Amino acid sequence: DKAEQKKLVGEPSVTAEGTCVELAANIGTPDDMKGVLENGAEGIGLYRTEFLYMGRDRLPEEEEQFEAYRTVVDQMNGAPVVIRTLDIGGDKKLPYLDLPEELNPFLGFRAIRLCLEKTEMFRTQLRALLRASHYGNLKIMFPMVATLEEFRAAKALVEEEKKRLNEAGYSFDEHVSVGIMVEIPSTAVAAAAFAKEVDFFSIGTNDLVQYTLAADRMSERVAHLYQPYHPAVLQLIKNVIDASHAEGKWTGMCGEMAGEETALPLLLGMGLDEFSMSAASILPARSLMRTLNVNDAQALVERALVCGTAGEVKEMVHTHAK
Ligand code: PEP
Ligand code: MG
Repeated sequence: DKAEQKKLVGEPSVTAEGTCVELAANIGTPDDMKGVLENGAEGIGLYRTEFLYMGRDRLPEEEEQFEAYRTVVDQMNGAPVVIRTLDIGGDKKLPYLDLPEELNPFLGFRAIRLCLEKTEMFRTQLRALLRASHYGNLKIMFPMVATLEEFRAAKALVEEEKKRLNEAGYSFDEHVSVGIMVEIPSTAVAAAAFAKEVDFFSIGTNDLVQYTLAADRMSERVAHLYQPYHPAVLQLIKNVIDASHAEGKWTGMCGEMAGEETALPLLLGMGLDEFSMSAASILPARSLMRTLNVNDAQALVERALVCGTAGEVKEMVHTHAK
């Protein structure tokens, strides 16, 4: 219950036999930090920076962004803070950006695709992130990466801005981690190639599920096809985690699935390193982790991966929990 869970605020997240995992929080603005600290998150697994750009009539300047990022990094006191670069487009529009009207905005000009064309806007954000990296454990993450070329191009801009900041005398973390979200099936399938170049992965199941089953995450009409527990989705997740570990890298998850009771044993069994969720889910997840065992979870995964349907997977997990 709630009172019991409150006692877990400062405790590590460990399984019954003592394996440690990281339970992190998703945030949208520095104002969300209160809930993060109250619920004892071990890191920030996803800072969605869109809100800095929304509800205003022009782009946020470098200084304003720097302050926002530094505030969060400061408050986390050395714990990891993964900040996602602008993920605009799709359903999220910016009036001052003059984006094209598209027939399929979710398959269109958005996120990293847009940032790689509007490079001045992107460079401003990268500079703000790099400068904030001096104050703690900040990690940069690119959204909606579909190809290795995109990652390389974005990474090259980071390197260029590092050089410029150096010349201008700014301090920043020279070794700042640069990773990607895995939310497009091409990237999940080809994870082995990405793993050689990125510092980490974070699986964005909200979009990965939508693209894998071709079921719009906003549509009531096809909601029955939006299946996080579809064996195909589980296979993609496992492939990403395995690929990262083969290169000595780590994988997190920052989609809704990471905080679900049904998902925790499966993700633990697959070896997920970091689970990022809404702050309110952290203590329930930490409490559940203490009842789980890695060997059992691995056996469960073996069976889940060869299930025919999402329904069978969920039933198997629920039976296992009893
Ligand atoms: C995701 O796609 O899973 C994700 C975390 O990003 P967003 O929900 O912001 O698209
Ligand atoms: Mg997404």
